Amino acid sequence: MAKRGMLIVLSGPSGVGKGTVRKALFEDPNVDFNYSISMTTRSPRDGEQNGVDYYFVSKTEFEDHIKNGEMLEYAKYVDNYYGTPLNYVNEQLDAGHDVFLEIEVNGALQVRANCPDGIFIFLTPPDIKELRSRLVGRGTDALEVINKRIQTATKEIHMMQNYDYAVVNDKIDNAVNQIKDIVRSERLKVKRV
Ligand code: 5GP
Repeated sequence: MAKRGMLIVLSGPSGVGKGTVRKALFEDPNVDFNYSISMTTRSPRDGEQNGVDYYFVSKTEFEDHIKNGEMLEYAKYVDNYYGTPLNYVNEQLDAGHDVFLEIEVNGALQVRANCPDGIFIFLTPPDIKELRSRLVGRGTDALEVINKRIQTATKEIHMMQNYDYAVVNDKIDNAVNQIKDIVRSERLKVKRV
């Protein structure tokens, strides 16, 4: 039987650049993590594709998946559900592949409770002002939504203590390299708990 893969969880406040860092990480041909596509009830943004960026589903569908025990974790975030389908993660880990999740902090805490041997990385912004200007600059959300996201982010930053590693996203390349270093050294551990 294949050695079980590692579960790598990248989390941190919305707007900190998790998506950008994840995409840059996956551009490296030597990175062979399998990305777990999340499910959400939020509407697709321009250019987002179902089954690539997210599985976009209705609230009823999402709640059915929860009831049927098909989610590894899920959270309500700014009035929408977001969650990780359980089957894909288990299949990939069992087949010996490393799986990468990019999720918000409440979901990450649930994964930590269920999969204590995962690697939990907190991506943190250099500061909150920087976070606001990134959210505004991204131009994808209304001001009211941005304010809610900032409020959430302020609470989320205090959750850093629940993680194994903190990576400051000052420059994308630095953050990507640090994540690669973390995974490399985790692979070298004699024993992973
Ligand atoms: P966005 O609407 O900007 O795509 O995502 C909003 C937040 O939800 C981000 O912090 C993102 O990382 C998080 N998120 C995306 N997928 C999941 C998921 O499967 N589970 C959880 N708990 N959060 C997720």
